[in-house]
Amino acid sequence: MKRVINFNAGPAAIPLEVLEQAQSELLDWKGTGMSVMEVSHRSKEYEEMHNHAIAQFKELAGMGEDWKILFLTGGASTQFLMLPMNMLGEGKGADYLVTGHWSKAAVKEAKRFGPLNLTSVEGEGGSFTRIPKQAELKLDPKAAYVHMTSNNTIFGSQWQYWPEVGKVPLVCDMSSDVFSRPFPADKFSMLYAGAQKNLGPSGVTVVAIKDSFLAQAKEDLPTMMSYKIHAENNSLYNTPPCFSIYILDLTLAWIKKMGGLKAMEKINDEKAKILYDAIDASGGFFKGPVEKESRSKMNVVFRLPSLELEEAFVKDAKAAGIIGVKGHRSTGGIRFSIYNANLVENVKKSVDFMKEFQKKNG
Ligand code: PMP
Repeated sequence: MKRVINFNAGPAAIPLEVLEQAQSELLDWKGTGMSVMEVSHRSKEYEEMHNHAIAQFKELAGMGEDWKILFLTGGASTQFLMLPMNMLGEGKGADYLVTGHWSKAAVKEAKRFGPLNLTSVEGEGGSFTRIPKQAELKLDPKAAYVHMTSNNTIFGSQWQYWPEVGKVPLVCDMSSDVFSRPFPADKFSMLYAGAQKNLGPSGVTVVAIKDSFLAQAKEDLPTMMSYKIHAENNSLYNTPPCFSIYILDLTLAWIKKMGGLKAMEKINDEKAKILYDAIDASGGFFKGPVEKESRSKMNVVFRLPSLELEEAFVKDAKAAGIIGVKGHRSTGGIRFSIYNANLVENVKKSVDFMKEFQKKNG
């Protein structure tokens, strides 16, 4: 067996221990004589695991009794519309902090449900190389919520502070940096994340919502779009993505074993530093477009002097067992997605490869 160094942006690397445990219990899960994919979602065994995943998520996030954790389908993209569908209407609007491709996608859906007040540091087609400063945020104190995207997966920028938004509920799309660092849960009313980067496989989206915010959700909605119905049914109104939730549960246990969010942050800081130091020390051969204080510690994005060199870089990386480094199709360039499951060793090996590549081609 040969495992590659996997810098895919999502679906992405999953801790080897998690995969090994899933493999070892694939045919007979918890003595049921079935795989977890074959058990009923109404069984005692399934429900125990489902609730264990919820409890672990809350514990790691430091969320108390006043939070509901939902496991939904349709990806983070479905939250782009569920959130405004549940919370806007009758003239109620929201603030959106637009910092990249995915927050623009969130705006596109929310516009259908109410008036939006946008803060953006870039115009249409901008390259989003920085996060706005607190003083630049144009906030409406009457907004139903403020929506932000904590990490910009494509442009490689990340909020390195949590914005002050007064009494307005703060909602965060944490898809690409959830549980990569501690965060003050108290500051938020809702967060959501597709699991396929830091929390396991695709297929499940975690939505954490505070009871006080949930209480503001509309009642008269199509059933599967209603936060209240999913919350009342503990995400078991219909068949949940059982296997994805199972791997999520194992991944959360792995994060706990690693030492929790503080420990993940320490490792992630170290990885990002190794990579950015290598970029900055390359004399301009590798160039990161994002302003230093907005650099992402999850998606490290950089350019090489020519498109030909970028193509050769991707090809040579693959030959060296390093995959997933091609930048998003909309931006080009190179992107290393160094989510939780990629440990320091992988990043060190990759920096050795970068140095070698520069020596040969610089
Ligand atoms: N938000 C962010 C920050 C993302 O990175 C992505 C996917 N890469 C999405 C939303 C969309 O997620 P999904 O594919 O689960 O709908």
